[in-house]
Parts: sequence; C-alpha cells; structure tokens
Amino acid sequence: MKKILFATHNQNKAAEISQQCNGKIEIVTLSDLGINDEIPETESTLEGNARLKARFLFDKFHLPCFADDTGLEVDALDGAPGVFSARYAGQDGDSERNMEKLLANLSNSNNRNARFRTVVAFIDSEGNEYLFEGIVNGTIATEKHGNEGFGYDPIFIPQDADGLTFAQMSIDAKNKISHRARAIAKFVQFIESKQ
Ligand code: IMP
Repeated sequence: MKKILFATHNQNKAAEISQQCNGKIEIVTLSDLGINDEIPETESTLEGNARLKARFLFDKFHLPCFADDTGLEVDALDGAPGVFSARYAGQDGDSERNMEKLLANLSNSNNRNARFRTVVAFIDSEGNEYLFEGIVNGTIATEKHGNEGFGYDPIFIPQDADGLTFAQMSIDAKNKISHRARAIAKFVQFIESKQ
C-alpha cells in the first residue's frame, strides 16, 4: 500500500482522510513518526503554510508528504480571520473567544458572507509540489447554534443546508460538504490517477 506522510498530529483528520481514500493509502502522521512538536505556521497565506509544513517533512524523510491549512474568510472583514483563524483572539485554539471576536466585529454588518477554504499541499517522491483547494460558501450566524464539531462550527451556516450551522449537523453530514472533504477529494483523486 502506498505510504504518505501527513504533517499533522490530528488523528481524526488522518482517519477521515483514510476513509475518503477507501484505505488505499497508508497515512502516517507526525505522532506516528515520533515528532511531538508542531511545525510552526509562519507564512501569511494558507497556501504558504500548507507548502511549508509539507516541505518540512519532505526535507526530513524524502517520502511523499502532504499538509493542509484551513481558514475562515469573511467578506466584510476583507478575508479575516483567514490564515489566523486558529489564533484570531490571541491564544491558539480558543474557539469561544475567536467566535466572540468575530461576532463582535460583524455586529454592524449586513454582509455576513463567508467561506471556509482548505489548501492541501502534496509533494511527491521526486519533490514536485501540487496544491488542491476545497471551499464551502456560507454565512456567519448572529449567534451560536449547535454543539457538534469544533472551531467556528456553531456560527457557520453552509449554503444549501437548510439554514443549519455546521455544529447542528452530524459529523457525517458536515464531512459530505466540508471544505476539507472537498480539498481531500481532489487530492485523493489525483493520487489514485497516478497509481
Ligand atoms: P487547521 O488549519 O485545520 O488547523 O484550521 C485552522 C483553524 O480554522 C482551526 O483552529 C479552526 O479555528 C478553524 N477551522 C478549520 N476547519 C474548521 C471546521 O471544519 N470548522 C470550524 N472551524 C474550522
């Protein structure tokens, strides 16, 4: 089975991707490789950070590698929080404060259009780089709804989902339409076409 290194510690993401490629690819995470530190995300774009993380692994192992980076891009805020989504309110990963800040910054805005965008960067065994993008458009709710998911899910209402937030949908329903699933689907299709 083809082995691909994935620049993440998140086993849930790895499991989700394994499932999407019907187990045809063996996904090896940073934790599987005994790397405990996070790879610093120092670039100013999703593309830059995804490429940086994949390149970090490739330079170490010279095996096919990929990485992903996701941001919530809000039109009325000129694309913020975007690449800073995880640390919008300061501390990394404080979803409650991130959502509060976003709702406060949008309180006077009639335009609540937004999208989640995921970029996957893949580097093949020869060092060639490929990018795949997945987008889900939607709007930002005026208050939080639902308990599923993570991050900004309680305030993101995807298009064509009966007005429910991601946090009001089952994980399976979200994964059918999510930004990450769409980017990964393109990536998996590419890998399968090369096999
Ligand atoms: P990451 O690149 O997947 O780590 O995502 C960066 C940040 O974007 C996360 O810390 C979350 O705040 C947010 N985010 C990414 N994907 C999702 C999602 O599916 N739902 C809600 N928030 C997300």
